[in-house]
Amino acid sequence: MKKVDYIIVGLGIAGISLCEQLQKLGKSFVVIDNGLEGSTAKSGGVFNPTILKRFTAAWNATVFYPVAVNFYHQLSEKLHQNIFVETPILRIFKNVEEQNNWSVASDKRELQQFLSTEFLKNTNTSVDAPFGFGKVLGTGRIHTANLLLCYHNYLIKKDFLFSEDFKYEAIQQNENSVTYKNISAKKIIFAEGAKVIENPFFPKHAIIGNKGEYVIIKAPDLNVAALLKGPMYIIPLGNHQYKVGATYSRDDYGTDPTEAAKEEILSKLKTFITCPFEVIRQTAGVRSTTKDHRPLLGSLDENPNFIFFNGLGSRGFMMAPLLSEILFNYLEDNVPIPQEMDIRRML
Ligand SMILES: Cc1cc2nc3c(=O)[nH]c(=O)nc-3n(C[C@H](O)[C@H](O)[C@H](O)COP(=O)(O)OP(=O)(O)OC[C@H]3O[C@@H](n4cnc5c(N)ncnc54)[C@H](O)[C@@H]3O)c2cc1C
Repeated sequence: MKKVDYIIVGLGIAGISLCEQLQKLGKSFVVIDNGLEGSTAKSGGVFNPTILKRFTAAWNATVFYPVAVNFYHQLSEKLHQNIFVETPILRIFKNVEEQNNWSVASDKRELQQFLSTEFLKNTNTSVDAPFGFGKVLGTGRIHTANLLLCYHNYLIKKDFLFSEDFKYEAIQQNENSVTYKNISAKKIIFAEGAKVIENPFFPKHAIIGNKGEYVIIKAPDLNVAALLKGPMYIIPLGNHQYKVGATYSRDDYGTDPTEAAKEEILSKLKTFITCPFEVIRQTAGVRSTTKDHRPLLGSLDENPNFIFFNGLGSRGFMMAPLLSEILFNYLEDNVPIPQEMDIRRML
């Protein structure tokens, strides 16, 4: 029997953050992940502490942000990979009113470090932006494919990862431990993203699947290097390719790309770029969101050794590193999870 402190199910950004936290503090663990592409793999990887619809800060942005920046820089160094690339977001202004709203917002304490007060003029003839751009600072892109692959390989080398489907019926609960096949652990941490709805120990009503789709285009004349935010994001991938999206479809756990989403994305895209492009492919993933837009951490009374790390919504990259610290402090030192993040609020 292999004995560890924790078994983690799922290796998206939640699982990775947790592995890093456990290693930092000398705890042993194994990860079970089926290698199917979850939300992390299907995301845009945009690291953005602001909400650019209304020019506000994301929830607790000033608290999550520094921990996350530090985390991705350290992880890039450790894996010898440039996982986090700092890139500004250019938000296209629709009109003068939006420029004024931006100026007011950029004066607010929680937004000062993120919203540049200087407006940029549009010099790109392939982009339709007569009112120019507001520049968001401190933002970047997480190279998710690279991160997932490198972290997977890193754990395999250490013999910490089992690439397989987790079988819920194979868990055995003992008073102060759990066993799964030939592994015994103090606790098991479920970090399966939206797939948690297949977990029989999870209260299904606690999350809402929100499907998101992207279209990947090739546009040799677009020449956009920043993350461009108009009615949709344009995310440069290199080699003249761009990821455009994403859509939001509530109560939807489907993972197949749809014609309707493609049409929505392309019709919006054509309102702000003027150059020709070719559609390369389409992707779809599911965000694990909650009614109150807050994460789900911790355990339920009936199974105290089963821990959940879920509900990362559409801001998983910024929140996961600090949430893994909060979860760790709860598990190891009984530090209470803030009520607004505690899964028990859903009961
Ligand atoms: C279209 C889209 C765009 C997004 N864009 C952004 C963005 O730009 N910025 C941002 O911050 N966030 C974005 N998000 C949200 C972000 O992707 C999520 O918040 C985050 O990735 C969730 O990570 P996770 O680790 O909880 O879940 P996941 O990434 O889904 O990871 C769960 C892992 O568990 C595995 N798994 C599940 N069940 C089992 C099982 N039974 N056995 C074994 N393995 C299992 C899965 O295969 C997967 O590998 C986006 C999401 C989507 C869908």
